[in-house]
Amino acid sequence: MWVYVLSGTLESREAELDMLWEAGASGLEERAGTLRAYFEAPSEVALDGEWVEEPERDWQADWKKDLRPVTAGRFTIAPSWLRGEVPAGQLPLLIDPGMAFGTGHHATTRLAVEALGELDLTGLKVLDVGSGSGVLALAAALGGAAEVLGVDIDPLTLPAAHENAELNGLTFEQGRFTTSGGTLRFEEGSLDPDADDAAEYDLLVANLYAELHDLLAGAYRAVLRPGSPLILTGILQEKVELVRGALAREAFTDVTERLDGEWALITARS
Ligand code: SAM
Repeated sequence: MWVYVLSGTLESREAELDMLWEAGASGLEERAGTLRAYFEAPSEVALDGEWVEEPERDWQADWKKDLRPVTAGRFTIAPSWLRGEVPAGQLPLLIDPGMAFGTGHHATTRLAVEALGELDLTGLKVLDVGSGSGVLALAAALGGAAEVLGVDIDPLTLPAAHENAELNGLTFEQGRFTTSGGTLRFEEGSLDPDADDAAEYDLLVANLYAELHDLLAGAYRAVLRPGSPLILTGILQEKVELVRGALAREAFTDVTERLDGEWALITARS
């Protein structure tokens, strides 16, 4: 395996990355202030780097080796091959990394799973907007919710969410998974910002981004029964005020926030 090593980072070299791909790079990596482009064989690259030959690596194995279970309140999120490492007393939430966002290694997923775990979910009807890997919908379902729907605009997330539900021992029948306390299903879709649907959900969780929460805040209010909890994340700290403003506009109450690094989670009540 040949590596073309340049000084700089993916960001500082952004304008030159296309040249590396066009020269036949099969992957790029940032490591200790250098940018490394991987090739099968040296080729013509008109940049200021140097070629280094390195032993072949099993990327899949290397990457799996570094993945650890993540504690999020009463849940431990782990890939299926580490299920044995979930501590006794913790609720296992098995998520295999794949094409869809949501392995638990991002602060926003962790914050949302933690917030879900603090609620008594028993018997609730729950909506997860932007379900990705299915991690939040699964946390709600495994935590005892009666009816959980995960929606995502990206159809590629649906097979990933289904695989993760199966990893957690849920069986699929007639378009939905069955849990010990209810059902769980995933659909391609979203919320209509102008929704005036019947208020039918007891809890809504969404890991999106601040501008989208601002746009959807009216729809969150429309689909939630009065007095129901709302959990929003995917919010950069500097965008917290935007989301707080949207929640005030829609008359949500009991607004709280918690932070993890540059990320925030906001809870409120409809
Ligand atoms: N819920 C998972 C988690 O917490 O880890 C995944 C969250 S990921 C940050 C956001 C997901 O929202 C992506 O899967 C994306 O496709 C989806 N998404 C983006 N815009 C959306 C929209 N308007 N409606 C529904 N889903 C959307």
